Amino acid sequence: MRVHHLNCGTMCPVVFGLARSLPRQRMICHVLLIETPQSGLVLVDTGFGTMDLRNPALLGAGFAKLARPKLREEETALSHIERLGFKREDVRHIVPTHLDIDHAGGLPDFPNATVHAFAPEVQAMEAGATLAERNRYRKHQFAHGPKWQRYQVQGERFFGLESVRELKGLPPELLLVPTVGHSRGHVAVVVEGGSEVLVHAGDAYFNHAEIYGSERNCPWPLRVFQRLAATDNRARLHNQARLRELAREPSVRMFCAHDAAEAWELGVL
Ligand SMILES: [Zn+2]
Repeated sequence: MRVHHLNCGTMCPVVFGLARSLPRQRMICHVLLIETPQSGLVLVDTGFGTMDLRNPALLGAGFAKLARPKLREEETALSHIERLGFKREDVRHIVPTHLDIDHAGGLPDFPNATVHAFAPEVQAMEAGATLAERNRYRKHQFAHGPKWQRYQVQGERFFGLESVRELKGLPPELLLVPTVGHSRGHVAVVVEGGSEVLVHAGDAYFNHAEIYGSERNCPWPLRVFQRLAATDNRARLHNQARLRELAREPSVRMFCAHDAAEAWELGVL
């Protein structure tokens, strides 16, 4: 399997200008495009999509003000895919880490793809039980009726962690590791089979200093944001601690969705 690392969205959050440890840094939307032998193209997360670009008001005024997304055509997953010589229809599967506004935007660009998700996340999106959840899950990103494939925990553990294996129609090297807390059904997505085991940790952490280094460290704006955004902060911190352990495994290469520094190291396009 060949894996491309893409940036499918750029955000320049207001608070980044306030912290010395985040000088002019921006947030990216780290997306994986996987070429598989039998399952076509697989996307892990989708960033922002063409519908968000055509009508940014759909993302909500609050999000636009705080996150300041750049919404560039050339950064959409669809643009990247076409630039790499593929077609929209070649994307047959999508595996989101969760369904937040900055992760699900590309779903409508691939309406025929099967979307493999941890069931509690789809339930949370559909229920919209709290105001925060009605804001973070945007209706227009799901209005096309995604072809959901919903999962509960199943199969062997992954380095001691609960996992979801045997995703329908996907190679066995792809699996989900539930890491709830940021949202109700957040997962890390694992891609085995290469020289390194890739772990896309989504929004389970936001800055490499939270995972790597001798002790957990997080620039304060990101610490505050993560706490406010979490549906279950205790679970989030517990799962983040488990990811810190996992990242120490020599064969594991872990990265999150939004840290630009991590992404450049991996040659994000
Ligand atoms: Zn995010």
